[in-house]
Amino acid sequence: MHIHFNLPHLTGKEAHYMYQAVYNGKLSGNGEFTKRCQRFFEEKYGFKKCLLTTSCTDALEMAAILCDIHPGDEVIVPSYTFVSSALAFVRQGAKIVFADSMKRNPNIDAEQIEALITPRTKVIVPVHYAGVACDMDCIMEIAEKHHLLVVEDAAQAIDSYYKGRPLGTIGHLSAFSFHETKNIISGEGGMLGINDERFIRRAEIIWEKGTNRAEFFRGEVNKYGWCDIGSSFLPSEVVAAFLWAQLEAMDDIQGKRKQLWNKYYELLKPLADQGRFRLPDIPEYATNNAHMFYLVCNSLQERTALIKKLKENDILAVFHYLSLHSSEYYKDKHDGRELPECDRYADCLVRLPMYYELNEDDLEKIGKLLAL
Ligand SMILES: *Cc1c(COP(=O)(O)O)cnc(C)c1O
Repeated sequence: MHIHFNLPHLTGKEAHYMYQAVYNGKLSGNGEFTKRCQRFFEEKYGFKKCLLTTSCTDALEMAAILCDIHPGDEVIVPSYTFVSSALAFVRQGAKIVFADSMKRNPNIDAEQIEALITPRTKVIVPVHYAGVACDMDCIMEIAEKHHLLVVEDAAQAIDSYYKGRPLGTIGHLSAFSFHETKNIISGEGGMLGINDERFIRRAEIIWEKGTNRAEFFRGEVNKYGWCDIGSSFLPSEVVAAFLWAQLEAMDDIQGKRKQLWNKYYELLKPLADQGRFRLPDIPEYATNNAHMFYLVCNSLQERTALIKKLKENDILAVFHYLSLHSSEYYKDKHDGRELPECDRYADCLVRLPMYYELNEDDLEKIGKLLAL
C-alpha cells in the first residue's frame, strides 16, 4: 500500500459552505465567510486585525509594502526557509541579509541577528519552522533596541505558541498559509495578521487595489477612490467558505495530527537514542502544532539511503529547503558569509509522511523500516 507524503484532509463541510457562498449571491471577496474567518482568528488568538489573502506569499508582499521597504533597505531572513519569506521583500527592492539556523533546530539563530544589523536594516523575518516558535523575546528585544519591524512568517505555525502567546500575534505583522500542504487548508490561501494598529487602515487599502473600498462599505466615507499602491490580494468568498469548514474542525484536525506526531516520536526515540538520526526539537518556550515530523540525519549519504529505503517500500519521505543564500537567483547577491547550519539542514533533514488519514499501522511500518 502506497503511503503518500501529504494528502489534503477534507472535513466534509467544504462543499456545503461553498454552495452557500455561491447561492448567497456574493462571490467576490470580503463577504460573510471572509469576515467569519477573520473574526475567528481575531477572537481566538487576539490579533488586532486579520485579512484573508490568496496565499501566504501575498500576505508577505502586503507586509513588505506596509513596512515601507524601498530599494537598498535590508531585511534579515533565515536562509533555511521557503522562497517567499525573502521574495516578497525582494520585490520591493530589499537586499536580503541571510541569517543562519540554530544548531538545535532549523529556526533562525536569534543570537546572531544583532551582528547583521546595519543603518539600512528595516525588518527581521523570523520563520517558525515546522510550527515551532523562534526565540521571540530575544528577537523582539533586538528589534525594539534598533527600531526595526518584525514580520513573522507563520505559514506553518497555525495554533502554536511561544511562552503561551499565539504565534503570529507577537511581531508587528505576520503571514499564514492555507496551502493544501499546511494543517488548515483552502487549496491556495493565506492571511495577514496585524498586531500594530497603525498598519490597519493602510493594510485594508493595499488589500483592495489601493482603494478605500472597505471604509466605504462600512459607511465611514461616502465615496471610494484610489489612495495608495496595492493589488487584488483578497480571495473570493468561495475560497473563504472552504476555509470556514476547516476552521470549524480545527480542534479535531490538530488533535489527530498531534496524536500521529507523538506516536512517531515514541516509535523513533529508541533509534534516535542509538544515534541513527535526531528527532525534532521543541524548545521549552515553544509548543508543537504537529505541522511536520522531520528527522535530521548524520549526513547527506545517510539521508539519501533513508529516503531510498522508504521509497522502495512505496513510502514517500522528502527533504526540504535548499539554502536560499546559494540559490541560483541570490548566490551572486549574497555577501559570501558561510551559513553552515543552514547547509547542514539542507543536506540532512528529511520529512516523514504526515496527514490526517495516516494511521498507526502506517507509522509502525515506517518505524520498522527505519530500524533495519
Ligand atoms: C508554505 C510556506 C510559504 C508560502 O505559502 P503560500 O500560501 O504557498 O504562499 C511561505 N513560507 C513558509 C515558511 C511556508 O512554509
